[in-house]
Amino acid sequence: MNPIEKLTDLFEHFPGIGPRQARRFVQYLLSTSPVIRQELAEAIKSLGAGTAQCRRCFRWFPIDDRRAPSASDAEGALLCDICANKKRDQSLLFVVEKDADIDNVEKSGYRGLYFVLGGAIPLAAEEPAKFVRMRELLKRAEAEGSKKSLKEIILGLSATTEGDHTRLILQENLMPIADVHSLKLSSLGRGLSTGSELEYADPDTIASALNSRN
Ligand SMILES: [Zn+2]
Repeated sequence: MNPIEKLTDLFEHFPGIGPRQARRFVQYLLSTSPVIRQELAEAIKSLGAGTAQCRRCFRWFPIDDRRAPSASDAEGALLCDICANKKRDQSLLFVVEKDADIDNVEKSGYRGLYFVLGGAIPLAAEEPAKFVRMRELLKRAEAEGSKKSLKEIILGLSATTEGDHTRLILQENLMPIADVHSLKLSSLGRGLSTGSELEYADPDTIASALNSRN
C-alpha cells in the first residue's frame, strides 16, 4: 500500500467517514504545508502518551504531569480522578454510553461513580457483549455488590431506539446479580426528550431526570 492509500484506509476507520471523505482528508493534507502535517502527527502521537484509560470506569483521561503519579487501585491499575476520589458516593454507579456523557452528567451535580459502556447495542446484535462492555459491567456489579459498597446502578442510556434496546438487555443481564446482592436497578426518569443523547442534554434536564429515576 502506498502512503496515500494507507492514510485513506486509516481515515475510513473513523466514525461516520466513508471512502470519499477519507480521500478528501488525504488530498487536503497533501496540499497543506509540511509544518501542519508535522503538527498533526505530533498531536496524534502525544494523544497516546498523555492519556490513559481508567481500569475501573473505562473513560479516557489526561495524565497530569504536574500532580503526583496517577492514582491506582490495589492491583496497581491506573484510575481516573473520579474513580480515585474516595469522597464520591461509592454506592451509586451511573452507566453511560460514552466518555462525553460524563462531562454533562458531572454538570448536573451527580457525585457518584461511572461506568462507560462504550456505545449502544445494535438492534440486530446477536452477541451484545461484542458491542459494549457488558461482561465488564456484570463483573463490576458482582464484585462491588458482594462487598456491599454498591447499592444502585443507574442506566443512563440515550432516549433512542438503540438506547432503549441496550437498557432492556442490560436490565435482563444485571437482574440476577441485583437480586442476589439487593442492588437497585434504575433508569433515568422523564425529562429527556425522545431521541436525545446525554451528551447533548442540558445539565438541569439531567438533574431532573436523575431525581425522577425509577
Ligand atoms: Zn475511572
